[in-house]
Amino acid sequence: NKTHIGLIGLAVMGENLALNMESKGWNVSVYNRTVPGVEEGVVERFINGRAKGKNLHGFTDLKAFVESIAAPRKIMMMVRAGSPVDELMEQLFPLLSPGDILIDGGNSNYEDTNRRVVLAESKGFLFVGSGVSGGEEGALNGASIMPGGSVKAWPEVKPILQSIAAKAPDGTPCCEWVGPAGSGHFVKMIHNGIEYGDMQLIAEAYWVMKNLMNLSNDEMANVFDGWNEGKLRSYLIEITTNILRHKDKSGDYLIDKILDAAGQKGTGKWSVINAMELGMPLGLIATAVFERSLSAQKGLRVSAASQLIPQHASVTLDKNEWIDRIFSALYASKLVSYAQGFAVLQRASDTFGWQLNLASVARLWRGGCIIRSVFLNDIADAFEAADKPEHLLLAPYFCKEMQTLLPGWKALVAQAMTAELPVPAFSSALNYFYSLASSDLPANLVQAQRDYFGAHTFERKDTARGQFFHENWTGHGGDTQSAHTMC
Ligand code: NDP
Repeated sequence: NKTHIGLIGLAVMGENLALNMESKGWNVSVYNRTVPGVEEGVVERFINGRAKGKNLHGFTDLKAFVESIAAPRKIMMMVRAGSPVDELMEQLFPLLSPGDILIDGGNSNYEDTNRRVVLAESKGFLFVGSGVSGGEEGALNGASIMPGGSVKAWPEVKPILQSIAAKAPDGTPCCEWVGPAGSGHFVKMIHNGIEYGDMQLIAEAYWVMKNLMNLSNDEMANVFDGWNEGKLRSYLIEITTNILRHKDKSGDYLIDKILDAAGQKGTGKWSVINAMELGMPLGLIATAVFERSLSAQKGLRVSAASQLIPQHASVTLDKNEWIDRIFSALYASKLVSYAQGFAVLQRASDTFGWQLNLASVARLWRGGCIIRSVFLNDIADAFEAADKPEHLLLAPYFCKEMQTLLPGWKALVAQAMTAELPVPAFSSALNYFYSLASSDLPANLVQAQRDYFGAHTFERKDTARGQFFHENWTGHGGDTQSAHTMC
């Protein structure tokens, strides 16, 4: 009478995932460490509380927990990312049998997962590093699950993981094998980065409507509601409508009472750091991360506001066409953000030999997760086309969309700049778009400067790519060249 799977870590995610598994007919063993000084009785509380009467079996002894699971054992860890995962693995290794499978469903750094896959396999075990998105609600009712690592584990864990995943509107589970090593966690990291971008973009649309059109919260909610019926239909637009309409106990709109200081836990930052490591632009997400940092400097902004721009230019936009322009800015910038994110995934895939299927990744995100939206279908279609586009924005459908959106988008950014209203993500996206669409950029001067002061060499327009030259700019430099790196 062994169980189908074991789950370690009964905090918010673990508890809900265990309940989700049980509701799909799986028999689940659960374990949480018991450490003096740390909250005790976690297992008992769960088993006598939400798990009461269900096929969930609690253990406080790790050996007994492991022995309760049918071979090959599948053990999902939902513990705090970082050293707890390594500590747990060390405790588990002596208790496991060859072929047993460890699944790390936490928000681990993909490089840690690379390392853990190698370590577990060296001991005869299999290791799956899986991104899980959707928070508490997704964990209980269906998450977006992004597993990667030891591919041999996939047929074993697939029925369980797909059963607890969200279903996309066409019924497909939002859980598919991503690729080897830490690719599942890398994809989850980029998902979180894109989430940062989407949230900042929606916030900028709100800010323009509020400050330049003087719309009320209800009027703005109606605009977002309308957008949620079209191409922008998504979870984040939907909750924005609800947030704008929400009143607190005293009957006031709560949104107007919430301090404009946003926090962050680090996955946006990781996305940007890794994009930089890969030499890839991810400006929109970087902007979103930096805007959260600047928002948190509330005191500084309050004093700077009175000193730097004591009197704002007076601009009021009162025509309906401005709503269309805000839509254009929001939709076009969102496309830029996803194009940048998927380009980073492609580069990571090429660099690490992961062979990621970008269409499949887009489909994984259609349900269960925070960035779920209808337009991920269009992205999947674009990557699945016979001639895969070199860049998402060069897919015929998106290329046409961008051309249609550009007039409204640039008018909106120009107007916001004149009105001294920050729209950093809209404008970052627009600048990226202009740079991308420029066959010539002033990087010739940058490269000349690099060669002038550091002998970093340059390629020439009139010779084949890959040949590097150094100029003796001042007449008294030497001929020694520095190594050239292009990314
Ligand atoms: P936490 O990230 O708060 O982790 C708490 C759990 O980790 C507890 O069960 C805790 O045990 C256990 N733990 C901590 N240190 C150790 C250790 N050294 N050895 C063994 N167990 C340890 O819980 P969440 O449920 O929020 O998240 C779990 C994972 O899922 C994290 O990686 C998180 O980033 C990720 N995640 C979270 C989401 C969310 O919305 N919360 C969404 C998606 C992913 P104890 O009770 O004894 O302290």
